Amino acid sequence: MKRRHFIKASLATGGMAAFPGLILGAANRLRVGSDVAAITSNGGETTLARGLIRDFADSLNGPLLLPGTDGYDAARALWNGMFDRKPALIAECSGAADVVHAVNFARENNLLLAVRGGGHSIAGKSACEGGLMISLKRMNGVRVDRQRRRARVAGGAVLRDLDHETIALGLATTSGTVSHTGAGGLTLGGGIGRLCRQHGLTSDNLISADIVTADGRYLRASEQENAELFWGLRGGGGNFGVATSFEYQLHPFANEVLGGVILHPLERASEVLKFVNDFSRQAHRELSLSANLLAMPNGRGFVSISATYSGDLRKGERHLAPLINYGKPIRMGLQRTLYSRLQVSNDRVLAYGRKYYMKSGFVPEISAGFANELVQRLEPSSQREMVIVLTQLGGAIRDLPDDATAYAHRYGEFDLMVGAAWDDPGHSQDNVAWGRDYFGAVQEYTEGFYTNSLMDESATHINANYRGNYPRLLALKNTWDPHNLFRLNANIAPTAGAGEVTQGAG
Ligand SMILES: Cc1cc2nc3c(=O)[nH]c(=O)nc-3n(C[C@H](O)[C@H](O)[C@H](O)COP(=O)(O)OP(=O)(O)OC[C@H]3O[C@@H](n4cnc5c(N)ncnc54)[C@H](O)[C@@H]3O)c2cc1C
Repeated sequence: MKRRHFIKASLATGGMAAFPGLILGAANRLRVGSDVAAITSNGGETTLARGLIRDFADSLNGPLLLPGTDGYDAARALWNGMFDRKPALIAECSGAADVVHAVNFARENNLLLAVRGGGHSIAGKSACEGGLMISLKRMNGVRVDRQRRRARVAGGAVLRDLDHETIALGLATTSGTVSHTGAGGLTLGGGIGRLCRQHGLTSDNLISADIVTADGRYLRASEQENAELFWGLRGGGGNFGVATSFEYQLHPFANEVLGGVILHPLERASEVLKFVNDFSRQAHRELSLSANLLAMPNGRGFVSISATYSGDLRKGERHLAPLINYGKPIRMGLQRTLYSRLQVSNDRVLAYGRKYYMKSGFVPEISAGFANELVQRLEPSSQREMVIVLTQLGGAIRDLPDDATAYAHRYGEFDLMVGAAWDDPGHSQDNVAWGRDYFGAVQEYTEGFYTNSLMDESATHINANYRGNYPRLLALKNTWDPHNLFRLNANIAPTAGAGEVTQGAG
């Protein structure tokens, strides 16, 4: 008997009384009744022997969940309720060692593999049908080094965890605008938020990451160690491994900001969009703006301007005067408020588990023609809520050259997001068709899309979207993941491990 097994066996019998409250390892909780059918990386079928699964469970500190076990359905649930994928196994990793074991298990058994951080993948890529899902949900610790202004954040932390620990200490880094988004997925694809015009993308603030690569190695990537891999992690998404922790640069930050939402009638939408386009050109870096069109199932609609000014507040008030004095708003919600409050203000609107369809594209300006298309095509429907968001970019994002990191979209002035949300599955087909049509009609005004908003783009489109950084990313993929173990993402299909390279199921 292996020493590890022996220790667990003795604890499970007489030894246990000596350690009241001790939680037994996963193997002791898991009953595997029979062999388990699973899906391989290229969509084939395989069978995992029950003994093999038991040994795998035994190697983990966190639980291994199978269909029917407690917590399985909660663990596989994703933000986008359009995707109801049932992995054969879910490894709820408790730390880097579990991740190493899980990556090795997936590779050795040629399993389709999904990696879940915060579960916000719009395309549902963080769960897979029949494969192994590595869930990092339990790995959400954040440790702030106040002196050095750095935060070390575990790979499954969500933005709420990051903001909560840093803001209380008078520090912050760029984070996204919905607090239940995973810091992991967001960082690996870029990271756009209320502070990005001031401090750059979240990935621009990354100092290092610990990562488990496809061969099961546990490495640090930074400017000093594995520098090329570090370059690829900042925009290349989940292509190169599982990041078990991230180290971020923090900035001094007073939580009080000037921020909120101004509502105007939908009938004024074209003019409001023009105003936002013009005003955004002279916006300070401390200001982050977005213009939003909303059409509700009850037929009501609005155009809104969201703003956050995170610099000196008096200066901000002067700077925002044209915005405050513009038009005749239905509601003026711009005020002195807390950034931490704004950071959770969208959480309920974009709730977990509803059904969503979303498409993104970067735009150089909100031209009159583009604004008219956006507005005229937005007809309220009782089947869905519709939201069109134009988030201002630029500022510090553009301080770096295009090839400074793998993120290839520093040129974008705005990120367009076309979205629909609904609950009734009977409306899914129509609502997806609406999203495709609407986006299709305005796509000519866009150039490239945000990798983190991947939806249903083709492999060719995904490759092209990495723009000039694609050859370097492909070389990295060939080096670090030649058999495409990490394929459920904005996938860079390797050319080095020929024969085994397909997009796979999931
Ligand atoms: C409601 C909502 C709001 C959003 N708001 C913003 C925003 O304000 N700014 C912004 O920039 N983006 C935003 N996004 C997009 C978001 O950045 C992506 O959806 C991102 O992938 C979410 O990361 P996650 O960890 O939650 O996702 P998951 O679904 O868990 O993961 C998505 C993919 O990321 C990879 N991944 C995640 N964690 C790791 C890890 N630790 N190691 C390796 N790979 C990993 C995997 O490939 C996985 O398939 C938003 C998305 C949603 C749904």
